[in-house]
Amino acid sequence: MTSDRREFLGTSLGIAAAVTSHSCGLTAATQANAAEMPSRDGLRTEASGDFGRLIHREPRAVAQPVSSAEVASLLRLAGSEGLKVAARGQGHSIYGRSLSEDGIVIDMNRLKSIRELRADRIVVEAGATWKSVLDATLAQGLTPPVLTNYLGLSVGGTLAVGGIGGASSRHGMQTDNVLELDVVIGDGRELTCSAESNPTAFDAVRAGLGQCGIITRATLRLERAPERVRRFQLFYLGLTELMADQRRVLAEERFDQLQGAILPDGASGWRYQLDGAVYYSGDRPPDDAALLKRLSDSRSAAVITDLTYGEDAAAFAKFEALLRSKGQWSTPKPWLLTFLPGRNAEQIAREILAGLTEADVGPFGRITCYPMQTRACRTPLLRLPDESVVFPFNVIRMPASNDAAAAERMVTQNRALYDRIRRAGGVQYPVGAFTMSHGDWRDHFGSIWPRFSEIKQRLDPANLLTPGYRIFQD
Ligand SMILES: Cc1cc2nc3c(=O)[nH]c(=O)nc-3n(C[C@H](O)[C@H](O)[C@H](O)COP(=O)(O)OP(=O)(O)OC[C@H]3O[C@@H](n4cnc5c(N)ncnc54)[C@H](O)[C@@H]3O)c2cc1C
Repeated sequence: MTSDRREFLGTSLGIAAAVTSHSCGLTAATQANAAEMPSRDGLRTEASGDFGRLIHREPRAVAQPVSSAEVASLLRLAGSEGLKVAARGQGHSIYGRSLSEDGIVIDMNRLKSIRELRADRIVVEAGATWKSVLDATLAQGLTPPVLTNYLGLSVGGTLAVGGIGGASSRHGMQTDNVLELDVVIGDGRELTCSAESNPTAFDAVRAGLGQCGIITRATLRLERAPERVRRFQLFYLGLTELMADQRRVLAEERFDQLQGAILPDGASGWRYQLDGAVYYSGDRPPDDAALLKRLSDSRSAAVITDLTYGEDAAAFAKFEALLRSKGQWSTPKPWLLTFLPGRNAEQIAREILAGLTEADVGPFGRITCYPMQTRACRTPLLRLPDESVVFPFNVIRMPASNDAAAAERMVTQNRALYDRIRRAGGVQYPVGAFTMSHGDWRDHFGSIWPRFSEIKQRLDPANLLTPGYRIFQD
């Protein structure tokens, strides 16, 4: 980097943002509290990798803006310098999607305040985590309708990909529950968009994989939070039995949340689990017998828990603590996330399972597999098989070691599994670990591709945004 350029980054961004640039060792923090700032090397190291620990790309600079106007300044600067830009929420991507090699990473960690809370909505900055959103809303007895299983993800990070949770059959994706967004598009313009105002930008940014804009603020729909959640974990001897019961409880809408998983079970192979939850308030719990009637699970193995809504929503934190205690939170995470068509989900799942062993997922890994209604999923860029019921089917690998070669083999295996799933009409949930070519992305977006390309060209004409996906590169 030239000294002029260093000066430029330092002074022009010094007006507003905190920037750290590796080649000049510059840190300019004006509005930020310097005492809170991680070291500049720490920031750059962190922004060179992600949760997946599979891809490493070093940025030229990391910025920590504190306003949308600063994000806009950064994008204009990047445009004039021809630098690629990626937003980074909590960095829980697993395959380099929030990285920007020799470009700028916009760390959203200082844009995380709760701006407004009303009975039907909350306005938050996009760097806020879902945990902080839920903490604020629950204090008023409110909740977003759909929460991710893990609350340590940022609002901007999940709105960029979709945001699926146990309540998605009822309420769609998190992107279906957004009322308004403030975004900075690729050319540095700030826009407010919603279904009524700037709908093109609204549709291009939700589940748009960061290609058209950086979300700086989101207005999220809220509903009254139930007081308690009664959760049923039911176990099955086989996939057919699991899927039959999952389909039954989905069709009958027995549960407010429905998920499920196939778990490694030592020498015996796999264990099959249905996970359903019912909300309630007051002191009359749901009728267990009615909820479980005519299901074919191994009833003596069923686990029923009854927690407050907040405790239940945060339950993943216990799993995180367990993985951390075993040193397995920070091993590589070559995950594969997909949606299978409902019509042939069992056949595909069975074939894939036949080729996997416990070693492929790790002792704490799992394959999430459950049916989901698609009628509430309306986000245009969120790709799903065109059916009323689809199956999220995710190979959540938790390798026990840091063996890079083994992780790479799993990435290769992911690609083969993805090809198999795609041939059978499935699509990926685009947060997985495997390489996608430009042609693969065209296929992924299908009939919506020409429109997506055209809007990308309009909103990010220099193709600066979110290079980690490699969507618009031949
Ligand atoms: C433990 C774990 C549990 C998960 N559980 C779920 C789940 O239940 N449901 C689900 O849907 N997903 C889940 N995911 C996947 C997760 O939603 C995505 O990986 C998500 O993108 C991560 O959010 P983040 O804040 O860490 O984003 P980052 O990794 O920081 O960013 C993800 C992508 O979004 C872009 N981005 C980030 N912020 C913005 C912004 N403000 N504007 C525009 N683009 C932005 C980034 O550039 C990058 O391309 C899980 C992931 C992990 C690791």
